[in-house]
Amino acid sequence: MSVLVQEGIGVDFSLTEEQELLRSEVRRFAEERIRPGVAERYARREFPADILAEMAEMGLLGMMVPEEYGGAGFSALSYVLAVEELAAVCPATAGTMSVTNSVCCWPISHFGSEELKERVLVPLASGRMIGGFGLTEPGSGSDAGSLETRATRDADSWVLNGEKAWITNAGVAGVYVVMAKTDAEAGKKGISAFVVPGDSPGLDVGEPESKMGLHASKTAPLIFDDCRVPAANLLGELGAGFKIALATLDHSRLGIAAQSLGIHRRALELAVAYARERVQFGVPIARHQAIQFKIATMATELEAARALTYRAALAEGARHGGRLASEAKLYSSEAANRACYESLQIHGGNGYSDDYEISRLYRDVRVTTIYEGSSEMQRLVISRKLLR
Ligand SMILES: Cc1cc2nc3c(=O)[nH]c(=O)nc-3n(C[C@H](O)[C@H](O)[C@H](O)COP(=O)(O)OP(=O)(O)OC[C@H]3O[C@@H](n4cnc5c(N)ncnc54)[C@H](O)[C@@H]3O)c2cc1C
Repeated sequence: MSVLVQEGIGVDFSLTEEQELLRSEVRRFAEERIRPGVAERYARREFPADILAEMAEMGLLGMMVPEEYGGAGFSALSYVLAVEELAAVCPATAGTMSVTNSVCCWPISHFGSEELKERVLVPLASGRMIGGFGLTEPGSGSDAGSLETRATRDADSWVLNGEKAWITNAGVAGVYVVMAKTDAEAGKKGISAFVVPGDSPGLDVGEPESKMGLHASKTAPLIFDDCRVPAANLLGELGAGFKIALATLDHSRLGIAAQSLGIHRRALELAVAYARERVQFGVPIARHQAIQFKIATMATELEAARALTYRAALAEGARHGGRLASEAKLYSSEAANRACYESLQIHGGNGYSDDYEISRLYRDVRVTTIYEGSSEMQRLVISRKLLR
């Protein structure tokens, strides 16, 4: 059987009435509640806590958590629809929301004990607290298996020591899923996953990163200095942490693909509007073929990226689901980067001004080919799955 045949995965992207409603509600919320203050929040590097609280009320912070744990019980496709709508208005808020949903709630939902779900997933799903994910370290990024943070057992606790770098929601999260070594001799099989409450003794948040974009989100190191968590906060089996991290990233790449779709769509909308309005050589620049061709390419790539992302969302859990999620993340993020580049080009010198939204999107989009697995790592994952 060819690895390219994907049994049971159709191409019917028709949305249910519930999904149409969700999309229009999130679009309305994003336009009415988030858009008016985005530029100021970016300028002040301000985390939108009040907006997150409203999103919690809408069920957007525990979207795929089963209803029995207080979540909204939505599908991966519904989640993708919501992230795209948020990212088209504020990529930073979309990032905050996707991290709590897909790299914190998701692994706890899939690998947590019943007790951990009751204790931690329920408040996460309700949005009473948001979540974070600690895998990256100063010396270990793409090569996540080389991480050095240690966890040692001491009576009824695990004691963590080490440092995590570039942690989204650091300092604002109530809980983090953290990968640490529990057996230094066992390589990747010696890594375990832990649920670490934000107020754990021995956990410190470092200085926020001075980021190029996503200024309305928080990113900072986490420092573990004899940080003690209850033994029951081990997530899944001892030694299963690396597998849990990979499974989580297979899922969460859908969120970055969707974030890229939102940014791409907005970059295209801005390009079309500007091209219609800006006059050079006596006509709107939209009348010049060079501009028309850029817009045609942006629109075509957006449709292709969306189709791939929806297909990957529908395939979640299927045999080829992980590969499709990598393909969706790879293609959508690279297409969105091209779209922002061309949209800014269409804006000319104005595009280089902070007064124009495209300059913010241009900075925000850059990270989409880097985090949750760089483009290079996605190509490795995809080709390994095809060539094994
Ligand atoms: C804004 C932001 C938010 C983030 N949020 C989180 C978070 O919440 N939690 C978390 O754990 N991490 C987070 N990260 C970290 C992010 O996931 C890593 O930056 C990413 O995985 C890349 O790791 P690195 O930066 O160490 O780059 P490196 O791994 O050092 O890679 C540098 C370059 O080398 C390439 N490269 C590396 N290995 C190979 C190879 N084998 N073959 C070919 N090319 C290769 C990479 O693709 C990249 O281009 C965040 C990062 C940013 C910028």
